[in-house]
Amino acid sequence: MAGNDTKTGPICIYCGGAVTKERKGEHLVPHAIGGELTLKEIAGKSVCPRCNNGVLSVLDTALCRRSFLSIVASQELAASLWQVWDVDHASRDLLIEARPEWREGKLESLVSYPQMIFEAAGPQIRGDVTEAEKFGREQFKNVMIRAVHGAFERYNRGKNGALHFERVRNDLKTRNYRLPPRVFTTHTITEIANNIRDQSFIFRYLSPEDVRFALLSMSRLEIGNKNMFNQLSYHIGSQVPSISIHFNLVRTIRAMMKIGVNLLAAYCSKTPVNCESYRSVIRLILGKSHPHQAMLVTRNGFVRADGIQEIAHPGCHSFRLTYLDNRWLFYASFFGGRIGSAVSIPGPNHEDWNTMDILAPIHSKLWTINTTKLFRPMKVCVEWSDNTAICPSLQWQYADSSLVVREVPAEES
Ligand SMILES: [Zn+2]
Repeated sequence: MAGNDTKTGPICIYCGGAVTKERKGEHLVPHAIGGELTLKEIAGKSVCPRCNNGVLSVLDTALCRRSFLSIVASQELAASLWQVWDVDHASRDLLIEARPEWREGKLESLVSYPQMIFEAAGPQIRGDVTEAEKFGREQFKNVMIRAVHGAFERYNRGKNGALHFERVRNDLKTRNYRLPPRVFTTHTITEIANNIRDQSFIFRYLSPEDVRFALLSMSRLEIGNKNMFNQLSYHIGSQVPSISIHFNLVRTIRAMMKIGVNLLAAYCSKTPVNCESYRSVIRLILGKSHPHQAMLVTRNGFVRADGIQEIAHPGCHSFRLTYLDNRWLFYASFFGGRIGSAVSIPGPNHEDWNTMDILAPIHSKLWTINTTKLFRPMKVCVEWSDNTAICPSLQWQYADSSLVVREVPAEES
């Protein structure tokens, strides 16, 4: 049986390859959403670093940092969200990179990340006003110019990782928002200052012309030029922040299936769970087979949250696996039932039970498992478009917004 043969050493349950350097191993539930246990700890099974840090990590990002689940995670764990913008209406609906701050399920404010925006009239530096005041405005400006200039120089010398290019694919233009190219980082200005030689930036843009324009603007940044960015103005955070959810459906489903396969591998004692016994689903997870997307999304995905309340438990992620017609139906309730999913996983079952309920307290290793011979499918409804049914606990009412500091170059005045 793969994974347990001591003579040949550990075998990756996903690709079947030998595992030589496994560190912590694969988390049963993504660590990004507070899953603490690993497959290795619970069952002594291995996932090779190539799968773990490669394709499986791409899937975790799709599910935990870009999908609907990421909004709930950002409230519960202060995890970073993929695309959140504050809108500066005074600058013709300019979008500003920001992170949300929540209180009791309500979006309280958006806090701008340190960023440089390349407008046609000249570059702008923006950031959070509280942070800028504390750090010193002049110092904030100088650190940003030096850090962006440094990242540009490293990029120009062909160094990897100085600028991470992200093209924004969105319906922004039809909503009349403006997104000129920009570089930003989720780090604080103090962190940037401490890492000024190696600070990398995310480079967001809409078109190849944007990239050329922003790079040209960066090449013209002058450290120590007192006339650059010498005007200061304030902008009140938008009352209508823009949270953009834009993610890959199939990757999200594959990520959900991966959690199910991990749990089966961890808790099935009699059933082999590996790339041979669970061949079709593991090939799908690894991206080696490409089923028709329309077929896949009708039966798998996020569900209307009312359907998973039966297994929901406060402070926990909870899961049910039940076996019917040669496949496992896998239900997940994340963050106490605030959002849930359902996928089906074809494969064998040699256990003496047909249903397993798993309670995984967030950030804890004290999980509880219950099994029964009974079949316990749930009445769930897969939903992809109605986000109020998927996340009913989110209240889209906006309270106070924070002040944001804005500097404009001299030529714009
Ligand atoms: Zn592998």
